[in-house]
Amino acid sequence: MKVQFLGAARTVTGSCHVIEACGRRFCVDCGMHQGNRAIEARNRDVRVYRPRELDFILITHAHIDHSGLLPLLVREGFDKAVYCTGATASLLRIMLEDSAHIQEMEALRQREKYERRGLKNPLPPLYTVEDAQKAANLLTVVEYHKTFTPAPGLNAVYYDAGHILGSASLRLEITEQDENVSLIFSGDIGRKGALIVRDPERPPAADYVFMESTYGDRDHKNEVSSADELAEAITYSHTRGEKVIIPAFAVERTQEILYCLHLLHREGRLPGDMPVIVDSPLAIRATEIFQRNYDLFDDEAKKMLAGNENPFALPNLRFTLSSDESRAINTICGPAVVISASGMCNAGRIRHHLRHNIWRPGASIVFVGYQAAGTPGRKLVENARKITLFGEDVEVAARIFTINGFSGHAGQSQLLDWLKPFVLEGTRLVLVHGEEPAQNILAGLIKQQFNITALIPDYLEELALEKSGQPRTVKHEAAAKPAINWDFLTAEVERKWAIFKDKLPLVRERPWVEQTDMEEALAKMDYAITRLISRL
Ligand SMILES: [Zn+2]
Ligand SMILES: [Zn+2]
Repeated sequence: MKVQFLGAARTVTGSCHVIEACGRRFCVDCGMHQGNRAIEARNRDVRVYRPRELDFILITHAHIDHSGLLPLLVREGFDKAVYCTGATASLLRIMLEDSAHIQEMEALRQREKYERRGLKNPLPPLYTVEDAQKAANLLTVVEYHKTFTPAPGLNAVYYDAGHILGSASLRLEITEQDENVSLIFSGDIGRKGALIVRDPERPPAADYVFMESTYGDRDHKNEVSSADELAEAITYSHTRGEKVIIPAFAVERTQEILYCLHLLHREGRLPGDMPVIVDSPLAIRATEIFQRNYDLFDDEAKKMLAGNENPFALPNLRFTLSSDESRAINTICGPAVVISASGMCNAGRIRHHLRHNIWRPGASIVFVGYQAAGTPGRKLVENARKITLFGEDVEVAARIFTINGFSGHAGQSQLLDWLKPFVLEGTRLVLVHGEEPAQNILAGLIKQQFNITALIPDYLEELALEKSGQPRTVKHEAAAKPAINWDFLTAEVERKWAIFKDKLPLVRERPWVEQTDMEEALAKMDYAITRLISRL
């Protein structure tokens, strides 16, 4: 039996574990890679997935970093069953279509940019709305706790992962040549006591556990202080007549923020003249799905509903569907709370709201979720003074708040807690879905507390699993991380710089206006190098 890691290996996005067992080839999740250009280029390398050779797909939850490449695989010939829970299927139907729409819009924007510059061959969209609809037709719903058999010799069960509505950990029992090997894929593990969803369940023990490690390096602050921090941001911008901009995943995080605002309103901490605007068509449709699935809510939210109180309702709440309505938000003067996607500011309407507000002293930008390396959101939480939006550098004058207590992920101690019983049963552990520094810290703690060594696979790495004994590893380093030729690049810059300096006497002889043009070009280069150095 073999597992290959096609994503979420020393990164948090692109979750995809391809398994070969019982004569079948299938994957657990097939998420989109999100981050800088080099990371996102992995989305285009469809060969590594070999879609036509996949027999089925198991999805842990609807987030795009776990499901976003489904339409791509379908376009490239995958046409078999995609298993998931009922709520995940409902969410996927709207999320995949939304993701495809974003891809189409982005490709259109790129094409126009290419045409303006006289360039040829812009990239086509990663996939289209039609591909997403075809993918949605393959969804096959299975209930939590119910064993299903996607292939002979292979039994699977979903357990509630408490991360978002419908989210699951997956336990597989695989029988090959009379040997039985069990695997658990934790999926994203939720945070105990989170609003709306139930606490994460722990599946029965298994030979191997593949555990997420997003927050392997730290714990979260508790909810009480999260609500206080959100109230602080609201007061900060309200007294200054400015807006609070909240980049949030449209699914779960937006509903959690609405729930928290509902509680703040009940306590009289949300000013009556501060409208709350949810500017994301996807979030609106997702909120409707939440309202239809209240049986999956935790006891507190159920109690609220039993008392006829809608946890997502606010007196001054508005939803904006069209892009005209969205643009109109930026013409509203005065304070408001604007919740929009994407949560990591790498796509979607949120970028317009940042462009209109981030340079305004008195405005607040409130981050409520994990910001992956390479995304604009990550740069902002790491105190960038300037940010590039739509090709333009914008000054950061708004106050940046980072509220970890809204995170949909277990913190470090909760991960250790979740893992403990498995370790006591002799499980072998593989850490996935985390950035390298966080994974190393977590692996160190695990070694210290439980005396086991966690494997931390890299992108494209393969593990041959056996019932007993250490898994054998095949690495593909050169393909996973193409070498960066720093020597060549620096030599090229130096060579061209020497040519320019040689020609400087000729520059000085040019007419003055022409010289000022060249001066401007050189100043831009100086600025680019200054920014590069400032990152070191
Ligand atoms: Zn997730
Ligand atoms: Zn994830």
